[in-house]
Amino acid sequence: MRDLLPREAEHMRFIESEAREIARLYGYQEVITPLIEHYELLAAKIGEENRKRMYVFEDLGGRRVALRPEFTASVARLVSTRMMTEPKPIRLFSTGSLYRYDEPQFGRYREFWQANYELIGSSRPEVDAEILSLSNDLLKKTLLEEYYFKVGHVGVLRGILSEEGVSETEQNRVMQMLDKKMWEEALRILKKLASERCLETLRRLFKISGGEWSNIIKEMRTSVEGYEKASSAVENLETILNLTSEAKMNLNVIVEAGFARGLEYYTGMIFEVYVPGMDIALGGGGRYDRLIELFGGEPTPAAGVALGIDRIMLAVRRQHPNWKPPRRGIRVLVLPVNEEVRGKALEVSSRLRERGITVEAEVMGRTVSRALSDASKRGISHVIIVGPKELKEGKVALRDMESKEQKTVTIDEAADILENYAV
Ligand code: AMP
Repeated sequence: MRDLLPREAEHMRFIESEAREIARLYGYQEVITPLIEHYELLAAKIGEENRKRMYVFEDLGGRRVALRPEFTASVARLVSTRMMTEPKPIRLFSTGSLYRYDEPQFGRYREFWQANYELIGSSRPEVDAEILSLSNDLLKKTLLEEYYFKVGHVGVLRGILSEEGVSETEQNRVMQMLDKKMWEEALRILKKLASERCLETLRRLFKISGGEWSNIIKEMRTSVEGYEKASSAVENLETILNLTSEAKMNLNVIVEAGFARGLEYYTGMIFEVYVPGMDIALGGGGRYDRLIELFGGEPTPAAGVALGIDRIMLAVRRQHPNWKPPRRGIRVLVLPVNEEVRGKALEVSSRLRERGITVEAEVMGRTVSRALSDASKRGISHVIIVGPKELKEGKVALRDMESKEQKTVTIDEAADILENYAV
């Protein structure tokens, strides 16, 4: 876990505010779920790898609880217990910190932030396309460039395995291995559980990736011929990707037939976002049609995405080392020339803040010249100098730190001028 210094915190909150703006534009309402939940709920479908990494403890009431490692379980619980009668679709947004005992390394923290979107109540491909679209829109807003979507469909591999009679527990084990790209180990387990034809099909699928997505879909279709569920999964993936093309989303998509994700609740299209040169995902999501039912709700199809704010921040900083938040506005310092006008200077500060202007008060007791040189070092754009002579006429001196121009104006005039700068 780490501290975020002002620049990092500002960047983090900037991405978070863009994420909130995307939620508004797409009609997602925010929900705030607790940081701590029952262990069983959070662990149910998180997958073996993430389950081992949860922060689990007993509270004073003797309950086994954990820090949330993701949002989806909590949102699915919320929907299944309190929102079942809401008209569908339900679009929900959450943001906040998550906890996993990951090995600390580049882009892997034990406390991290996500922007999370869930679209609940429809199994139609428009839903999957919307999730891809809003992820793309958010990444664009953060100034990220050259990112791509790695896309797959859980229904292809699970479809084949269930038609082969492989139990769900064994399927989960295999999917965990595929998530870690342990193809050979996965095939070794399946040797005892599935037919030679199945192994052959999987071997072929594991090699299908990259290139023009429409060609990859064709290859997948021929590879899974005869497996009914897997074939309809391929059709579904094609429909979703066609929709993204028709909508001119211009997604950079790489389809990977053997792609699996660590979370166990996925049932359909899955995806992760990457940038070249960073082998960790910036976000991930997909369709999970059975989770709400598992938590006691009615069978309710859903899809969602979690975008990792920390990793987006890292990737943006790699691409734009001098990143600064846009719309920074101005920074104003109010500076009394002597002790007698200290109180007046505070009053002037308040009046400017009432007009929505960011104002810092001088609190170091510095002389005017020292305060001015310190202000220019700290990136202050304007200084209001409060002196007894000007005050008698209800005026102050407004100094533009860049042009070094200074003029005497009333407080209201100063506010009018500064308001024009402060976007
Ligand atoms: P997941 O819930 O595993 O699908 O993760 C979704 C996104 O959360 C990932 O793509 C990352 O951007 C982010 N994330 C997951 N684990 C971590 C971590 N340990 N440190 C930073 N970001 C993470």
